[in-house]
Amino acid sequence: MSRDKVTPTTTEEELLFQSLRAHDWDEFIGQGIIRKALQLSIKAAKQRQEPLDHTLLFGPPGLGKTTLAYLIAQGMDSDIRVTSGTALSKTGDLAAILTNLKDGDILFIDEIHRLPKIVEETLYPAMEDYALDIVIGKGPSARTVRLDLPKFTIVGATTRFGLLAGPFRDRFGLIHRLTYYQPEPLAEIVTKAAKKLNVKIDQKSALEIGRRSRGTPRITLKLLKRVRDYAQVNESAQIDSEQVNKSLEMFAIDKKGLDQIDRRLLKKLIKHHQGGPVGLSTIAASLNEDPGTIEEVIEPYLLQIGFLKRTPKGRVVTKSAYEHLGEKYPEK
Ligand code: ADP
Repeated sequence: MSRDKVTPTTTEEELLFQSLRAHDWDEFIGQGIIRKALQLSIKAAKQRQEPLDHTLLFGPPGLGKTTLAYLIAQGMDSDIRVTSGTALSKTGDLAAILTNLKDGDILFIDEIHRLPKIVEETLYPAMEDYALDIVIGKGPSARTVRLDLPKFTIVGATTRFGLLAGPFRDRFGLIHRLTYYQPEPLAEIVTKAAKKLNVKIDQKSALEIGRRSRGTPRITLKLLKRVRDYAQVNESAQIDSEQVNKSLEMFAIDKKGLDQIDRRLLKKLIKHHQGGPVGLSTIAASLNEDPGTIEEVIEPYLLQIGFLKRTPKGRVVTKSAYEHLGEKYPEK
């Protein structure tokens, strides 16, 4: 089963996200510490007329890493080139991109942890000395030629900070971790997006959508879209709490924002493993899910809201999760 709520599946949805993307810092809600730190770094770099330090943004999907990359480029008055760790499979691909950049350009690499090792190592001198070492020829006659590169900035995004090699991480001057959002800033995102979509929604309903968004703006926007569809089909001029509740119930999103996959994971652990501790690979096998998806996408929010605990022996379901699911907690 794939988790459709975090990975945009349709072009239409991708277009919606693009149209709703924060186009300036005023539209970027929350993450105050990162925003201030980045704005300061941008101002300082501009005063010195230097490129911004290479920047690494990490955190679960949908929290605004790509949006921030665009805002950084805008703040630096730079052009941005967008690629990803999976698209850069050969050093030749990287060389083609790097040699086409201009001074000050931003190179955004999404899912940077997926870069092949050889491409990653080619990036080291590029990041440090703005130079690219290219091997020409083969065998004993092979020689390395060093090409000068423009003074560019890499903005890397990753959901798996731990998978980046130490020497790679060390080459980023700025490292920022995005955290889940509280319901209030998500409600503000709902209100702003609703305006752009020409939809009327009251504050209470916006907050309810915020509460059920797993702390993630991308999910907030998806839920808003579902609620809007529901209101439209029911010929309602304004979205109210009843419509939010009814439509999200239809999509099996509960009061805590958990969806079927979250509940399935917790219930499996409760019913088949007495609530744990259970190792990641066992959970993955019993849910027929990829361990990476569980670790990167499903678990972090359950850990954040205290429904799951990580122990040296494995994952354990907490008492509050039992209560939320209406299951009897086995007092030990
Ligand atoms: P990521 O790159 O971390 O997966 P994105 O930057 O693609 O996340 O964000 C997903 C969607 O959520 C985009 O449409 C974006 O505009 C919106 N979004 C993310 N963070 C914010 C924020 N802080 N304020 C307003 N909208 C946001």
